[in-house]
Amino acid sequence: MRKDGLITLTSSGLFCEKGDFYVDPWKPVKRAVLTHAHADHTYRGNEHYLVPAEGERLSRIRLGDEADISTQKYGETAVMNGVKVSFHPAGHVLGSSQVRVEYGGEIWVISGDYKLMPDATCAPFEPVKCQHFVTEATFGLPIYRWQPTEFIFDEINSWWRRNREKGKASVIFAYSLGKSQRVMNGIDRAIGPIFTHGAVERLTQAYREHGVDMPTTTYVGSVESKKDFVGSLVVAPPSAQQSVGWLRRFGSHSTGFASGWMMVRGARRQRAVDRGFVLSDHADWPELLQAIASAEAETIYVTHGFGEEVVRWLNENGQNAVPLKTQFVGDVAEEGIAANEEGVS
Ligand SMILES: [Zn+2]
Ligand SMILES: [Zn+2]
Repeated sequence: MRKDGLITLTSSGLFCEKGDFYVDPWKPVKRAVLTHAHADHTYRGNEHYLVPAEGERLSRIRLGDEADISTQKYGETAVMNGVKVSFHPAGHVLGSSQVRVEYGGEIWVISGDYKLMPDATCAPFEPVKCQHFVTEATFGLPIYRWQPTEFIFDEINSWWRRNREKGKASVIFAYSLGKSQRVMNGIDRAIGPIFTHGAVERLTQAYREHGVDMPTTTYVGSVESKKDFVGSLVVAPPSAQQSVGWLRRFGSHSTGFASGWMMVRGARRQRAVDRGFVLSDHADWPELLQAIASAEAETIYVTHGFGEEVVRWLNENGQNAVPLKTQFVGDVAEEGIAANEEGVS
């Protein structure tokens, strides 16, 4: 990364010296501009935050009541020391944004995490033209290709229905922020009642407050211990899988896991769940290339996951791409958050 560019990489994160702010810093700084509320992008301890208004309640849950948070809507522009800063939908989770930074004719876009596939729980990805595009590459290998979402929901629905017929509960593990809500928004609500783990319930309530359509859910911790869960769907973060005591209350049940990693046989085995559903909130290989092409950037900086592989492919195809070592970790981090919040079973 050039030392004299509008955005540089420091030990605290991506820095705009001219505007005196960081985008998704991983060490405490004065001013943080955040793309979205996942753990590897939203750290506590910064003095001031600017977050997308569309995900304000999620940021508040992550950052705590005492955090000094300002919000800005998609498409609006803040000016910091003459530098223009705006948020544009990234289609990843509720309120997720790309950050556009402009000064003296130089334009950067930092993608945060994104996907192009339709998702009824958040605004769709908006291509933003720039000269310098910082993109994630969580699933940046040609083997990663997602099937249409409807197909995955058909699979989840028939799994749930079959379990119900067999007198079992269905326990689906999904990241507490984003994936859980996407699952609940997309499944067939007529099949049976839906129960939630505490970490999921809290974030789902924030989705409702932002006006996203969610089915009626019951927090597992609020029901009497002898409750019969036969035929119901239980939505829990992946970390709950390790808690045998928490799972025991559901009696006879089948387990499922919703994640892009479920495409990999080894990951499915490692998870030891009955069913893996390939549902990701990140771009697959064709989506990554499409997003990169639509930015029409001179330079592409690639971070998260398979950065080196994406850079090699872009360079071989005549594009100027550079790998960027950040501390964003992609899909796996989203599990870390759930674990932190597990105090509320
Ligand atoms: Zn994310
Ligand atoms: Zn990420």
